[in-house]
Amino acid sequence: MQTRIIDGAALARRLRSELRDRAAELTARGYQPGLVAVRVGEDPASKVYVRTKMKASAEVGLHSEHVELPAATTETTLLERIAGFNRDPRIHGILVQLPLPPQISADNVLRAIAPEKDVDGFHPYNVGLLATGRPRFVPCTPAGVMAMLAAEEIALEGREAVVIGRSNIVGKPMAMLLLQKGATVTMCHSKTRDLAVHTSRADVLVAAVGRPNTVREEMIKPGAVVVDVGINRLPDGKLVGDVAFESALGKASHITPVPGGVGPMTVTMLMANTVLAAQLASESVS
Ligand code: NDP
Repeated sequence: MQTRIIDGAALARRLRSELRDRAAELTARGYQPGLVAVRVGEDPASKVYVRTKMKASAEVGLHSEHVELPAATTETTLLERIAGFNRDPRIHGILVQLPLPPQISADNVLRAIAPEKDVDGFHPYNVGLLATGRPRFVPCTPAGVMAMLAAEEIALEGREAVVIGRSNIVGKPMAMLLLQKGATVTMCHSKTRDLAVHTSRADVLVAAVGRPNTVREEMIKPGAVVVDVGINRLPDGKLVGDVAFESALGKASHITPVPGGVGPMTVTMLMANTVLAAQLASESVS
């Protein structure tokens, strides 16, 4: 079987161009979508992520602000900054880059973001909307995966979907979205007894673990769609996903590469959520 490699970077470019048009339209009506990214401390990966998000914001034509706070910042200070952005009419999306230093509770911080500006979709209110089938701001990585599956016209209704990983930011919302599309969803995690028993039934297999070679060729059902969310850096500096990519070629019908698969789509969905937030803000006053 010829495996189709899903080009997330190309789809991301296409969607960003559409978002640029929507952002320009909102800007013309006085609602330029605005995103603020807040980073606390010096985590090198967080710096790269925030830089990538700011670059994408500029590309789409958003008003963007980048706030860098020292590692010793108190939770009270951070909460005050968030309260300020909650009130700021130029800002439609607030993103606090995780992880946060140990003296700050990520839970408290994520709850402090106004739900209508929660473009990461992590606030319990938005999680609740998703869980009850009325999604508004969906976490960016699973939203990006769904956009890729839709662009590839992959049918989900009645199919077996298996998600490996149950984090709040990827695995759980991913499973909810697949469920809403009518898939029969199984969630696997570190306590799952025999991972291969589950994965080998999957028509759609999503790996979001953070461990190279978690999914090997013998664990994939012939013709399955394999989505690799994982990002792992090998000792030689190479970036790989959770799936043994080369061995999956010829077995899967579709696969997402790492890099160039889910990653660019995640950032694009952040842009989409910010444009949506600005649009909702414009509608709430019109
Ligand atoms: P977490 O560490 O929060 O979650 C990992 C999940 O994998 C947990 O649910 C854990 O189970 C499960 N797990 C760990 N080991 C195994 C195993 N041996 N078998 C089955 N399940 C296992 O990670 P995230 O969800 O935040 O991220 C997952 C991966 O996706 C990471 O590589 C991350 O870098 C990447 N990522 C990529 C993004 C992108 O844009 N492409 C965006 C976000 C994340 P348990 O709950 O039992 O501990």
